[in-house]
Amino acid sequence: MEDVSQRKIIYSAVDENFIVIAPPGYGKTYTMARRISYLINNNHIQTSRKILGLTFTNAAAHEMYKKLEITEEQKSNYIEIETFHSLCYKMIRRYGKKIGLTSNFRILPDKERLELNSSIFGDYYQKEDFETRYEYWIQEKTLKANKKYVDETYNDIFKSGYKSFQDYLISNDCLDFNEILIQALVLWKSYPQILEYYQNLYQFILVDEFQDTNMLQYNVFSKLIERTFLQEKGKIGSLNYFICFGDPFQSIYLFQGAIANQMSNLLIDFDCIPLELAKNHRNNNPTISALNSYLRNDILPNKEAISMIPAHIFSNQDEEVDYIISEIKNLVETIPLHEICLISRTYWRLRAIKEKLIENDLDFLDLEQFKQEKIEENYGFLFKEFNKHIDKKTLLGSMVNLFKSSCEQSEYKIKGDLVLETFYEFICEFETYSTIRNLTLWEKLVQLQNDMKLRINWGEILKNKGRGKLFLAAIHQSKGREFEYVFIVGAENFFPYRNCIPCFDGDDPDIEEETNILYVALTRMKTKIKITSLNNIINSRGQKKRRNISCIYEKFVDFIVFYDVAKRKIRDYQSIKCFKS
Ligand SMILES: [Zn+2]
Repeated sequence: MEDVSQRKIIYSAVDENFIVIAPPGYGKTYTMARRISYLINNNHIQTSRKILGLTFTNAAAHEMYKKLEITEEQKSNYIEIETFHSLCYKMIRRYGKKIGLTSNFRILPDKERLELNSSIFGDYYQKEDFETRYEYWIQEKTLKANKKYVDETYNDIFKSGYKSFQDYLISNDCLDFNEILIQALVLWKSYPQILEYYQNLYQFILVDEFQDTNMLQYNVFSKLIERTFLQEKGKIGSLNYFICFGDPFQSIYLFQGAIANQMSNLLIDFDCIPLELAKNHRNNNPTISALNSYLRNDILPNKEAISMIPAHIFSNQDEEVDYIISEIKNLVETIPLHEICLISRTYWRLRAIKEKLIENDLDFLDLEQFKQEKIEENYGFLFKEFNKHIDKKTLLGSMVNLFKSSCEQSEYKIKGDLVLETFYEFICEFETYSTIRNLTLWEKLVQLQNDMKLRINWGEILKNKGRGKLFLAAIHQSKGREFEYVFIVGAENFFPYRNCIPCFDGDDPDIEEETNILYVALTRMKTKIKITSLNNIINSRGQKKRRNISCIYEKFVDFIVFYDVAKRKIRDYQSIKCFKS
């Protein structure tokens, strides 16, 4: 059933723009799907125009597609769902000639990008922190983000290196992820008629996870809608309209260049109406409701009405791991393994548990293995084989056969390997596409590898294939999922890396972001959550360090009961909190 706040959006006038705050579980995907269905079923879409669904990840896109109440024909006529990257990729494939790229341009794998940078910068690249500084410099230069980390030391070297990097990409017919967006903007700037084509094509634009857009994505979006705001209202025929959904409390990608306060920026830059989804539909867990009221409206929780979240403090990691394993063994008596999740701020903190899970024959899904760079690394043999045929410009052959024989040669079994099974299904389907069928083998392989990078949606795939397996991930990768029982591992003032952020790096956006990350972690639970922490931590140099509770937890202290396992007593937060605060 729709609530009042959802109806306001679904049936709103077709010539208004909205920015909507959507807390987790408040029916955002449902509302988006209903709005789209409403626009189509009531003939609000003009001839040969479309609705563009623009999302930060493609997990939400799949979710929404399933909920649309329109025919298959209407779907293909009126709707285009893209990520920022796939939208720009498609456009560059079509118009890239104008900037020196063919329709066979490759998306550069991460490993090749690093090798290229290393050859451009030579000895500099070996210097401590050079690579990190360069990444920040690029972020600042292209995304206007992370300015505070940029220093001037290597400015000129970065500048000329980046120029060589871009030149290399264009002359070798490839782009990396960032450059896909940058070159799309270049193309629009040099050829306004191309931009105009897309502005005319998309009559309505819906954006999801708006709080996580970075400056490049924001610029792509702004370009698409700018004509609406340049022209006088009333010329409906040439205008387009948007609804952006987001949640400032779930903004957790500042480190990748997302902009703090992105939602308020949109309100300032464009004339749009702020709305809010107001009712939790997913979860009637009183603790989650109380967390929302507290974070969003400063309402303190009624401790009698909520279940307090236990945080167990252990004196060493062995005890912590044993405890978690025995808890899991108890839990599987009543709930399936895939309803249990172990999350932490970093993968590093989960390592010891991973080993014990294996020892105990507890089947788990380690999300770290599905990060792009890990896949490139672990299945390098496959991409090597593909690239061999691309380099040789092989004309004939089947991708599926090539895939199967490469796996065989390298003694990889497809069956039972989640990644290879997924690739296999993807390639089988890809080979049947009408746009692909008539290409030569090497051209097919270029498209295949690009599409694998742009479109394989691991979050979605693992939801289905991960049945019967415990879920283990960094908090960032757990977003969008919920579990009956959640363990948050590691509340020490070690959070997220070496230091407690509020104490050592007390910048407001950082503290806010870390608070958001913890909020995302806490709201992964359907029923129960438990936090674990250590009194001591052995750092990467093997030194034992005394640890207290991270200052990030201070914000949520009214929801948590701290329990010292060795001393068998409840501890007052004041006595165990981070020494610096
Ligand atoms: Zn601290």
